[in-house]
Amino acid sequence: MTYNLPPLGHEYDALEPFIDARTMEIHYSKHHKAYTDKLNAALDIHPKLQNGNAENLISNPNALPNENKQAIINNGGGYVNHTFFWQILKVGTVFKGEVAEAIKKSFGGFEEFKKKFSEAATTLFGSGWAWLVLNEKKELEIIQTKNQDSPLALNKKPLLCIDVWEHAYYLKYQNKRPDYVEAFFNVINWDKVNENFVKAKR
Ligand code: MN
Repeated sequence: MTYNLPPLGHEYDALEPFIDARTMEIHYSKHHKAYTDKLNAALDIHPKLQNGNAENLISNPNALPNENKQAIINNGGGYVNHTFFWQILKVGTVFKGEVAEAIKKSFGGFEEFKKKFSEAATTLFGSGWAWLVLNEKKELEIIQTKNQDSPLALNKKPLLCIDVWEHAYYLKYQNKRPDYVEAFFNVINWDKVNENFVKAKR
């Protein structure tokens, strides 16, 4: 075992009623754990890759061993993406700080940003994520990634994301992904997103 399932950081019911406790419990203790276990299993035959940080591991997919490259990308991505996702979830923070200013400047205002981000989240076909990232030119960008692909592999630094795999919302929202996306805006930890932005800008 090289990578451990990191703490969720809050109780399963902390995001109620927007994200329900049962979904959080299964998402964290089953899905995130499975990515963690499968990443470790995939690295079993690569002792050299077992030490270090999972973000570095998935940042450069071309450097991964050919034998099971895709398994490392999928499960390493699942491991890193979920670890990141839990941190940007919190009820009750306020849209403010440097990142709020940058969002207003880049997208024309909060509502415009919300519309574009929601569009990215609702239109992604199949399983994946929508992200607010800082690209190589240090510009804000909204992108989609499929499956468990990470923006890190595209040289973009994640600031905020939403998991739109059905496992993230189906118990409460069933087929109504747009309702989940709308509710998600109540659980964005803007303090953490701002911290991510300040770090990414350096
Ligand atoms: Mn997930």
